[in-house]
Amino acid sequence: MVDLLSKKIRGFRDILPDESQKFLFLEEKIHNICPLFNTKQIRIPALESLNLFKRSIGESSDIVTKEMYSFKDKNDEIVCMIPEGTASSMRLAFENNLIYDRGIKKNRFYYYTPMFRHERPQKGRYRQFTQFGVEFMGDESIHEDIDLLLMSRMFFEEIELDGLKLNINSLGLAEDRNKYSQELQSYFNNYPESFTDQQMNTIKNNPLRILDSKDQQLTEIINGAPNISSYINKESLKKFDDMVQILDDLHIDYVINNKLVRGLDYYNDLVFEWKTDQLGTQDAICAGGRYDNLSTVIGNEAIPAVGFAMGIDRVVELLDYQNTDLVVGLSVISSSKSDMSKISTLLRNTDNKFTLIQMDTGKSLTKQIKSAVKSNCDILVIVGSEEISNNILTIKDLRSDRDDRTISFDDFSKFIEEY
Ligand code: ATP
Ligand code: MG
Repeated sequence: MVDLLSKKIRGFRDILPDESQKFLFLEEKIHNICPLFNTKQIRIPALESLNLFKRSIGESSDIVTKEMYSFKDKNDEIVCMIPEGTASSMRLAFENNLIYDRGIKKNRFYYYTPMFRHERPQKGRYRQFTQFGVEFMGDESIHEDIDLLLMSRMFFEEIELDGLKLNINSLGLAEDRNKYSQELQSYFNNYPESFTDQQMNTIKNNPLRILDSKDQQLTEIINGAPNISSYINKESLKKFDDMVQILDDLHIDYVINNKLVRGLDYYNDLVFEWKTDQLGTQDAICAGGRYDNLSTVIGNEAIPAVGFAMGIDRVVELLDYQNTDLVVGLSVISSSKSDMSKISTLLRNTDNKFTLIQMDTGKSLTKQIKSAVKSNCDILVIVGSEEISNNILTIKDLRSDRDDRTISFDDFSKFIEEY
């Protein structure tokens, strides 16, 4: 082992080429799907003022109570590395006048960016992770909610991820939730000996969070808890029913999960999660909901909105992906020192997508072929003096016993396209 000056920090990880390709694959899909939903990319800064999160996410949320990377910078400003993207997106929309601009009253945005949370590292839970987030702003219609769900579903279909379940619930309005929280508190208080001190604290500050506790010992108590649906106002109930009806009409599978509450304060009405059964307790892949009141906290103006954030690291973990890009080896047999660079440049400029691996010109052709096989090349392009003077390439198929072929250099692009 080398004697390293420093190793990576706990909870942070290196993403190596094979895994990186999966990220790239997902990114490409994201950039292709978002325009189909008229959703435009924004890039939010990695640092924000701490205040932005403290008030908007909720003082008693996991993020604010224990997960934020915040510090004083050199000007004594208290800043925070972004733990989530919704508050930033809302701030961005206000600060750049993107919602009530020139008569256009709504806008749809997405971001793809690292997030930072100081939580206990484990599989599927890192201190830096990437989120793909989508925020539809300015429209309170349930059609927005539906379109957002359709977008997430389309993404999972495109990447062929199976075994995901869409969980939905309605949290109603803040008043409903307050009533329900009190009811929950008194219910949980019937079992004081069942909770740890920390859980008792959660019951005091944010009892809804107990409902999505991963503590197995609480399963029975949680199952017996009052149901949020009995506390929700009529209008919200109607909205939820209408939405469920549309989901049925569209043949979208879902489960209504009354224990789904989400960790952040700003949600109302719809909340949802795409869950997998393959990642143990880190089962949420994508989570979101409606947040009609966040804008009032951030910009003192009412802008209804609905959005989700997807944990790309967890998606990568589930992804069954084989890179199918063509791998081309290049052997140049020539005494001229510049020929390898010249020919590589010509091949690279043909506008095709492939991996080009240069073989070691100093070795015999037999050795070069062996090394091309070892490097997993699909074909080897051989260029000697005869090829150079006739403007041709010799192609050796490394995946079959097929005889070598010569093609004219001008046909290389077509050849790659059709391979
Ligand atoms: P959890 O209950 O797993 O802590 P959360 O409610 O804190 O999730 P959100 O804030 O809703 O998560 O973030 C949306 C998604 O981002 C999650 O569903 C998950 O896929 C991903 N995510 C959240 N925290 C992490 C993390 N520390 N490491 C990797 N992915 C994460
Ligand atoms: Mg969390």
